[in-house]
Amino acid sequence: MTINLCFHGIGDSSREREPGGEKYWIGREVFLGVLDEVRDRPGVHLSFDDGNISDVEAGLPALLERGLHATFFPLAGRLGESSSLSPSDLRALRAAGMEIGTHGWAHIPWRHLTAQEQQRELVDAREALAEASGGRIDDAALPLGRYDRKALAELRGHEYRRVFSSDRFPARSSAWLQPRYSLTATDTVATIRDIIAHRASLADLRSRTRSAVKRLR
Ligand SMILES: [Zn+2]
Repeated sequence: MTINLCFHGIGDSSREREPGGEKYWIGREVFLGVLDEVRDRPGVHLSFDDGNISDVEAGLPALLERGLHATFFPLAGRLGESSSLSPSDLRALRAAGMEIGTHGWAHIPWRHLTAQEQQRELVDAREALAEASGGRIDDAALPLGRYDRKALAELRGHEYRRVFSSDRFPARSSAWLQPRYSLTATDTVATIRDIIAHRASLADLRSRTRSAVKRLR
């Protein structure tokens, strides 16, 4: 069993690019506390979505200090914007042993895409991120955690190795679709400790049911 934790922004949330996105930013102290909590816990996988510049300013040094590994899911359409990762940041992440995946091009849900949008989100973004980061892109993180049966079929068709959602329950380590827990501004080290310690609960069951509905709709 794997617990997937997902970070978005660390520190000053005024750098968030989208209205409402601030609620996924966490303070630096909480971030460091969570890393200290997971450093000796096998079975916890870390990821960072959206490619905010805090990934390299706050995230990378703290990961390296603790010998931790993570996957980063930037947006191809924001590469090099002032508050987002640049191609050289992506190369620095890879050089430090981190993995790079894709979060698509424009941060739009991968449901009901036109053929043109699908090409840009699932193919062009992957190629642009591979080129920018100097390596293969095998994994994808679903923008806004949204998906349906057709979106998953498309991702399988494009031979993505693993796809990460935001469905908030533990993952089978070998599963192709990996649910994650996104941290929010109200999380503390204690709330994350509870998630990692994981006791099966009614909330789990609800999350699993919601995920099943999305897979089948
Ligand atoms: Zn996102």
